[in-house]
Formats: sequence, structure tokens, C-alpha cells
Amino acid sequence: MALIVQKYGGSSVADAEKIKNVARRVAKAKDEGNQVVVVVSAMGHTTDNLIRLAYQISEQPGDREFDILLSTGEVVSSTLLAMALGNLGHKAVSLTGAQAGIHTDSSYSQARILRVDTKRVVSELKRGNIVIVAGFQGVSGKRDITTLGRGGSDTTAVALAASLGAEICQIYTDVEGIYTADPHLIPEAKKLQEIGYEEMLELATYGAKVIHNRAVELGWLYNVPILVASSFSDSPGTIIRKEASMEVRNKVSGIAHDASVAKITIIGVPDHPGVAAAIFEPLARANISIDTIVQNISINNITDLTFTVARSDLLKAMSMVEPVAKSVGGRECVTDSTLAKVSIVGTGMLNTPGYAARMFRALYQHGINIQLIATSEIRITCIISEDRVKDAVRALHQAFELEKET
Ligand code: ADP
Ligand code: ASP
Ligand code: MG
Repeated sequence: MALIVQKYGGSSVADAEKIKNVARRVAKAKDEGNQVVVVVSAMGHTTDNLIRLAYQISEQPGDREFDILLSTGEVVSSTLLAMALGNLGHKAVSLTGAQAGIHTDSSYSQARILRVDTKRVVSELKRGNIVIVAGFQGVSGKRDITTLGRGGSDTTAVALAASLGAEICQIYTDVEGIYTADPHLIPEAKKLQEIGYEEMLELATYGAKVIHNRAVELGWLYNVPILVASSFSDSPGTIIRKEASMEVRNKVSGIAHDASVAKITIIGVPDHPGVAAAIFEPLARANISIDTIVQNISINNITDLTFTVARSDLLKAMSMVEPVAKSVGGRECVTDSTLAKVSIVGTGMLNTPGYAARMFRALYQHGINIQLIATSEIRITCIISEDRVKDAVRALHQAFELEKET
């Protein structure tokens, strides 16, 4: 008897009929002789609606209350799914993240899972129950409810799969797998049969929100195979695992885009040791991720420093950067919040020249200006204007002939 973890996203449980559809799929997995743990997201746009509501009440909703509020969305869908399974004649029990033993640190809204105490889940499985866990949430050392960051139910699912020693973690969503680019943006994008953890981690971190990047990281760390497939069809989906085939390894696997980037430039910074540390340390302490950093060549020991942050972090980042920039003698800070990033990802790029040139040429041929460039061993990212992002993804998809992928 195999133990499997299934996760159903918000669009898969968006209304009563869809919850009943999920219940039938879960029941089938159980009837096939598996022990089944199910992680659910909140119904449809519930989380967005709860966030909007909080800001209608208060400009600065307290962190603790905010996380409890957001966690309720997943509690609703988990209880409804348990009821739907009951109607199908199955024994099912819903658990909140805390009841399921998801222990996190106390960084509200972006909590990290410290450990999973599987006792309760294991005992419910032994009793023959299907266990439904509310995703995206955990409990801190102070017994307060925390949430894991947007899209975090995927991470709950993989964390449970790793801790329970599950055979596979199946992520069911509104597309049939991982595509060479977002299929809602590029209809000719092709579904991949498989992809390695490393490539998927880069794609997810750079905008392919089909799976939470921390879920991929956990899967990689604990060697949990992850299937991404549709909750509305029986199409085979994409498997994320360690050894992707050689053919997949030797080319660009996919294109990720993220249309919510902001740029901060500090003009006229003295070029001496310690300045970068003084600017970036407070941002790191505030958990603000910095992406692309470019420092110009200095003239008369004065330089300009540019970096990007998520647009949602811009105001917070500026409130920290401006005073530090002033204290180290910077002239002024300017921002641009109308940017996007587009990235090509593939392990085949590692030792093969020519990928960057092909990317830059494709963007140039479509009149798209590159503002900043950043690379990892298996990724090249260009920062461009937000209004050209769709054209850029399309141009790169064609330039790398990804529509021919099988
Ligand atoms: P869920 O609610 O099931 O968690 P998400 O909305 O978080 O679903 O993720 C699914 C969406 O991810 C798809 O509808 C698709 O638009 C988007 N997406 C972005 N990049 C990709 C990609 N490379 N392959 C598949 N889907 C992608
Ligand atoms: N409901 C949460 C969100 O919308 C978590 C998730 O769906 O994974 O971000
Ligand atoms: Mg998601």
C-alpha cells in the first residue's frame, strides 16, 4: 500500500461542484489501495479577498491577526472536502496546519517550516482515514498561527510528503503540467514530460508560479518526486525529479517571466569598502530579496548602484535605503516600478556558448531594450519594460524553438 500526498490548488476547489470533483479524484486514489493525504488551498480568490478585506479595515493590519485571517481560507476548503468525501462513503478528517504538526518560525506571512510532527496524521491514516490538511499555514513556537507566503500550499504538500516518506507528491492545478512558458501567455507552449529540480527551482523563483519555489527546493533536498498535473483531466502531467533525461538537459527548458519588478538606483555613491554592506544588510534583515545588482565603474571614486526588488517590497525597501544612502554620502535615490524580468533556463547552457547572444539578439530584433542582465549557471535574466514582457516571452520562445519541444 503506497502513501501518496495530493495537493489541489485554489482553482481546483473554487466552488461546491469543483470540491465534489476533487473528492471523486481523492476517493479513486484511496480505492486503488493507497493511503492518501490531501493538502488544499483556499477556494478560488479567497486569499485575495481576505487581504482586501483586511486593508479595508486597517491600513496596517497587525501581522498576527493578518495571518490568522488568511489561514481561514484553507480551513474552509479542507472541511468542505472532508464532508464531500463523507458523502461518497469515505472516512475523512480535516486538520489545520497546526493540528497536522506543521511547525514554523515566527516570520508572519513568510514563515519557514522548521519541522513536521507527523504523529496525528499517521494515527489518522492508521485508522483508515483520508487526511485533509489545510495548506499554507503552520504554528509558531509561541502557538500562533503563521502563513508560508503566497502559493505556499505546494510547500505544505511537499513538506508532508518528505516527512511521511510518501512515494510521490502530486500537485493538481488548472494546467496539465509544466510548460515551456506560461500556457496562458503563450498558447503554443509545450508541456514537458519531466524536468530536473534545479531547472524547476530557477523557473519557479523567476516567475513560473505553477509551483512554489520552496516546494521544489524541499523536493530536491529530500528527493521527493513531484508530479504537476491537471485536476480537470487525466492527462499525464510533468514529473519533477533528480535525473531528467539527457535530451531535456541539453537545451533551454523553459522561459519564466515576472511582471512585477521594481528598480532602485542610488546615484553618486562613494566607492569605498563597506558601502554595499551598509545598504544591503538592513534589507536582508527585513527579509527583502534583492535580485539583480549592478554597480557602475567609478569615476573620481563616485559610482551608481542599481538593484531590483519585488514591486510589492519597493516602499519598504526605499524606507530603508534612502536614509542609509544619505548617511554614506549618496546623492539621490531614483526608482522605476514599471519593469519585468524574463529568463531563459536550461542546464544545457552551462558549458555551451551562444545562448546569451541568441537571447539578446531575439530581444533586439523585437525592439526590446534590456535594462539589466543577471545570470546563474543555468539561467540568463533580462530586466525589461513591463509593457514588453509578453512580446519578449514570445520572441524567446520562437528564438529557442520551444514550440518544437515534445
Ligand atoms: P493553483 O491555484 O493550482 O496553485 P497557480 O495559479 O498557483 O495554481 O498556478 C497555475 C498557473 O501557473 C497556471 O494557470 C499558469 O498560468 C501559471 N504558469 C506560469 N508559468 C507556467 C509554466 N511554465 N507552466 C505551467 N503553468 C505556468
Ligand atoms: N491560498 C494561498 C494563496 O492564494 C496559498 C496557496 O494557494 O497556495 O496564496
Ligand atoms: Mg499555486
